[in-house]
Amino acid sequence: MLIVLIVLGIFILLILIMVLRALQLSEPAYQSAAVDLIKVDSTKVAAHLAEAIRIKTISKESMLDSDFHAFPEYHQWLEKTYPLIHKNLDKETINQYSLLYRWKGSDRKLKPVLFASHLDVVPVDEATLPAWHADPFKGEIKQGFVWGRGTIDMKNHTIGLFEAVEVLLAEGFQPKRDIYFGFGHDEEISGKNGAKSIAAHLKKKGIRLAAVLDEGGMISRGLVPGVEAPVGLIGVGEKEYVTVNLTAKGVPGHSSNPPRQTAIGILARAIALMDDNPFPARPDLAIETLKRVAFLFPFSTRLVLANTWLLKPLLIKELEKAVQTNALIRTTHAATVIQGGIKDNILPAEAKAKINFRLLPGDSQETVLQHIHKVVDDPRVEVEIDMADAWGPSRVSQLDTPAYNTLALVIRQVFGDMPVAPYLLMFATDARHYQDVSDQLYHFSPVALGSEDISRMHGIDERISVNAMADMVGFYARLMRVWGEAEF
Ligand SMILES: [Zn+2]
Repeated sequence: MLIVLIVLGIFILLILIMVLRALQLSEPAYQSAAVDLIKVDSTKVAAHLAEAIRIKTISKESMLDSDFHAFPEYHQWLEKTYPLIHKNLDKETINQYSLLYRWKGSDRKLKPVLFASHLDVVPVDEATLPAWHADPFKGEIKQGFVWGRGTIDMKNHTIGLFEAVEVLLAEGFQPKRDIYFGFGHDEEISGKNGAKSIAAHLKKKGIRLAAVLDEGGMISRGLVPGVEAPVGLIGVGEKEYVTVNLTAKGVPGHSSNPPRQTAIGILARAIALMDDNPFPARPDLAIETLKRVAFLFPFSTRLVLANTWLLKPLLIKELEKAVQTNALIRTTHAATVIQGGIKDNILPAEAKAKINFRLLPGDSQETVLQHIHKVVDDPRVEVEIDMADAWGPSRVSQLDTPAYNTLALVIRQVFGDMPVAPYLLMFATDARHYQDVSDQLYHFSPVALGSEDISRMHGIDERISVNAMADMVGFYARLMRVWGEAEF
């Protein structure tokens, strides 16, 4: 009897603790006092973005010399359109087509920050042209939107930054710390010649950056599963991209006397084993994201989120259900290419496959190889990293640093009170190239996006509203003021 009572008591205590912890995940009190934002001439800004869209700075996988002519044209247009910047900031051209600007601060003791953007855009697939409601390179403004390739990714950022600095200079603002602006010219095809060279240039000069802001996060409109309300998402890390080549060799011959398995069978078995044995889940960053919006969830979800010390397996099970949330909690893989065999009655001499991995920070090319060897455990399968497309690991930036917290504050000041949460980017940006010169890489695009808007990036009908574009300028100007003067 006593035992039963003790067990019951422990059980009740446990429930009580769990409920109390869940109650702690209630609505946070924000303290974003109203601030004066700059006045933005939205018509002028939209017209400038439209002009930038007309300059076809397109990145293609195989670039010929003649494809680069638009970049100097874009540089000249920037020079003509933003005279104060070109009078007051130092400008360096890196690798012919990338740009680095420095706005000199008054206090040598403060480490500089850098705002990153890229000058290039992806091409428009000719086959999709009939589906567009505007010419992707004409810079059309209609129905309250600027239309065209680059209006979201990411000429809007470049123009937003230039407009903000131009206004701040006109107002006589002088930052305390140096503010750099890095504009790579090949982000869409790896950033190896653009942002990477800018970062190397800074490193050579011995410059360490207190923080870097690049594209990636956004004001989420329904992108956090189960949350309809707007949420400011700050990217704090990105998944690394690794492709592995698998090769199985066989003995060529007539298929009338086959071995138990041909090269194709050996390879197929390896792929099936990998599919059945995914990388283990590591939901720590996803938990951090969800906790910060937990007050928007039903109590049952909060109960789980507040008690992951006990209920983590339950949470993992839930997140594994959708491919999007599954990708947030583990290194994923997908067999994307397979080749083998030449004729139906000839045994294949070889079969090859490409497996594309997206790595959570913490995993690496080595852990991928270890995982495959452990799971497949078949000496007949050769495994090698495809070095042509290997990117190198990405770190997770620290949360709740002064740079992070002031960024979150400015998001609320400009876009209204809302939860701000860190999250993991599913795609790669130029920011990873700055890892060598900064520990704090943050991703935030100051624009509200839903999944429909995101499908327009690299897709059909890319566009941004004239008002959203004006807000971007207001946001950058505010953040430059705050980061320009904050002590970190
Ligand atoms: Zn981009």
